[in-house]
Amino acid sequence: MTPLLEIRDLAVHFAADEGRVEAVDGISLTVRRGEILGLVGESGSGKSVTALAVLRLIRPPGRIVRGSIRFDGRELLDLSEEAMRHVRGSQIAMIFQSPRTALNPVLPVGRQIARLFELHRGCSGHEAWQRTLEILRLVGIPEPERRASQYAHQLSGGMCQRVMIAMAVATEPRLLLADEPTTGLDVSIAAQILDLLRELGRRTGASMVLITHDLGVVAGVCDRVAVMHAGQLVECSDVHGLFKHPAHPYTRALVRSIPRVDREVTMEPIPGAVPSVLEPPPGCRYADRCPWVIDRCREVKPELLPLEHDHEVACHAVEPSNVVPARS
Ligand code: ADP
Ligand code: MG
Repeated sequence: MTPLLEIRDLAVHFAADEGRVEAVDGISLTVRRGEILGLVGESGSGKSVTALAVLRLIRPPGRIVRGSIRFDGRELLDLSEEAMRHVRGSQIAMIFQSPRTALNPVLPVGRQIARLFELHRGCSGHEAWQRTLEILRLVGIPEPERRASQYAHQLSGGMCQRVMIAMAVATEPRLLLADEPTTGLDVSIAAQILDLLRELGRRTGASMVLITHDLGVVAGVCDRVAVMHAGQLVECSDVHGLFKHPAHPYTRALVRSIPRVDREVTMEPIPGAVPSVLEPPPGCRYADRCPWVIDRCREVKPELLPLEHDHEVACHAVEPSNVVPARS
């Protein structure tokens, strides 16, 4: 079966006064049916830009300069704007990082959801309202009748995120792009939101891309994980394989930087600053931070190559024989 989403050699650039910002530099990535794929990397690595590119929401001065994005076998980059609006309205939904600002401040949250049922599902006013209450219940909002008539500013951050999730799943999308959905929420609320997303994915069969800068979040929720660094994809693996045998030196540093409460392992910061993606030099963008760097790294960008089953890495210095288990 074809994968639900297949990104090939996607590159997104922004024209800035200082030059060309190469935010996404030729990444290839697959999302399978029904899976949760984690997309991780430090801030600025191109995760949000990748998600926006999938929805074709990159606005000038940004531009998709090359690549292919196939959704269920259809090339999204060839669709008309109208066809693309249909995809956004009913096939692929995005959950943004700051739910409160993404919600309409002057419309009760229930009305915002009901509008989706009217617009995309052709429901009558009464039916749309009933379905709104149902979906608010589904995402764990207590007293949905009362909450539905409130405004975003009357709800807590966690509640707003639940409303956003309700809006995202109202149209029964087949792919959910969740961009740092728990940032800014406290730990216990964040855990509940992640549980909710996982449960919704399981129930609806939708695939999900969970964007996070936190590999710890990935461990409990995702099936597979793709690691981005400065606009390049450096590693892609099933979650178990990635934690057990992180291959790319950047992934190894990320794994070592996860705080552990169960063992006395100190967290290690990742050495070096995130490199600029403003007209970067050719080659691997991790080269300046990398303990394994060789000359070739600064000249030729490493390709993503299979390492073992369901595990690919883009690194000139990695060979199957030198992938050792993560420190345990
Ligand atoms: P992440 O989500 O991983 O934190 P982003 O995808 O938001 O990172 O950004 C990737 C890069 O693209 C960053 O270097 C950022 O500065 C740049 N970028 C994003 N949006 C714009 C824009 N509108 N104009 C110029 N550069 C941008
Ligand atoms: Mg982001």
